[in-house]
Amino acid sequence: MRLSRYFLPVLKENPAEAQIVSHRYMLRAGMIKQQAAGIYSWLPLGFKVLRRIEQIVHEEQIRAGHIPLLMPTLQPADLWRESGRYDDYGQEMLRIKDRQDREMLYGPTNEEMITDIFRSHVNSYKDLPLTLYHIQWKFRDEMRPRFGVMRGREFLMKDGYNFDLTKEDALHAYNRHLVSYLRTYERMGLQAIPMRADSGPIGGDDTHEFLVLASTGESEVFYDSAVTDIRLGSREIDYDDKAQCQAVMEEFTSLYARTDETHDAALFDAIPEERRKSARGIEVGQIFYFGTKYSEPMGATVVTPDGARVPVHMGSHGIGVSRLLGAIIEASHDDKGIIWPEGVTPFHAGIVNLKQGDAGTDSACEAIYGALKARGLDPLYDDRDERAGAKFATMDLIGLPWRITVGPRGLAANKVELTSRRTGVSEEMSPEAAVARVV
Ligand code: ATP
Ligand code: MG
Ligand code: MG
Ligand code: MG
Repeated sequence: MRLSRYFLPVLKENPAEAQIVSHRYMLRAGMIKQQAAGIYSWLPLGFKVLRRIEQIVHEEQIRAGHIPLLMPTLQPADLWRESGRYDDYGQEMLRIKDRQDREMLYGPTNEEMITDIFRSHVNSYKDLPLTLYHIQWKFRDEMRPRFGVMRGREFLMKDGYNFDLTKEDALHAYNRHLVSYLRTYERMGLQAIPMRADSGPIGGDDTHEFLVLASTGESEVFYDSAVTDIRLGSREIDYDDKAQCQAVMEEFTSLYARTDETHDAALFDAIPEERRKSARGIEVGQIFYFGTKYSEPMGATVVTPDGARVPVHMGSHGIGVSRLLGAIIEASHDDKGIIWPEGVTPFHAGIVNLKQGDAGTDSACEAIYGALKARGLDPLYDDRDERAGAKFATMDLIGLPWRITVGPRGLAANKVELTSRRTGVSEEMSPEAAVARVV
């Protein structure tokens, strides 16, 4: 993309309404525009990152054997009357009437709808195990929408639902989700720690929340600092291997790590003092096992091998896709702007032309731009007729991992400058070497 032809409405001033750094940088970098409290348009740069995050979520869910589909945002109220949640859900639910006076709602989550799909089409234990998921907009009329996309009212969530014959199988699905989520967050450059949590209005006993430690997080968490040393890394996972998934789950959840709702002071005090930590965290996901809470009242049953009919064991598993943009920026920025992890960056590298209009620099920039694209990368070429300082400030703000700076003086010696956004280190090298270094 050439910046002169892109739509990147960068703000020079700090927006007064933004209280935390991720919100401030998303507005300043022209990623989002608020349309109403907690409701945002995703401008091109923000939309690009959102799509990359979504793509990683899809890839890791599909790797775990889970199947994508798409359910609507609007749901009939009657479905929620079957589970009893229509009255229980309270004011977070946006209730709507259509022209026939039928009661509808903008879905805050999809347990009822997916259970309805299941009961309409699945009848036998032979069709299990089954895990279906989608990535779809949700609406929750939050009391205090704030911090930009971090606590929106309309937000993008991945929500997946497992259907299993036995509790044991459903707990395997739970473990599969836990492991696939660890990989998902790590690919985004994030450490998200699974913590014992409270199940809230979804219901059920077994639940973990995934928390990114950040001073601006809304959750209070307590943990053994040793949990922060564990990584999934690049180990091979066989998602059909129950024992392996169970072992990874235990490895990541045996040390003390809990949100304030489930915090147990006595257990916490048993941790060696220097490892006892309390901090703030951002909830970027949550997994639940809740057995037959929905399948029983809604009649989602299958026939077993002995011909009996039993309700299926279920769980639901969510990732806050749009919230992740805020969480990643909270975890990765400096006083000049965002520092995108390579896995989610909107462009792989920025090219800064120090002397736009100079035939030599222009053609060197074009060659670098073409060579990066030929490698399958997505560069952003700042070809505007602007001062170098303004170009650098924009690049620092939007946080691309690499900047290639091209000027007539360097080119005279066949050199350009390659700068890492994360380390700030610049190196001079030939244009070809710079192109080869970008990942
Ligand atoms: P919170 O405690 O932050 O209100 P929740 O526990 O109500 O979140 P879940 O029902 O667990 O949310 O939904 C799954 C994920 O969706 C959450 O882990 C979070 O990352 C994301 N999420 C929930 N509410 C919002 C929101 N208002 N804005 C953006 N993301 C959200
Ligand atoms: Mg909530
Ligand atoms: Mg929560
Ligand atoms: Mg939650």
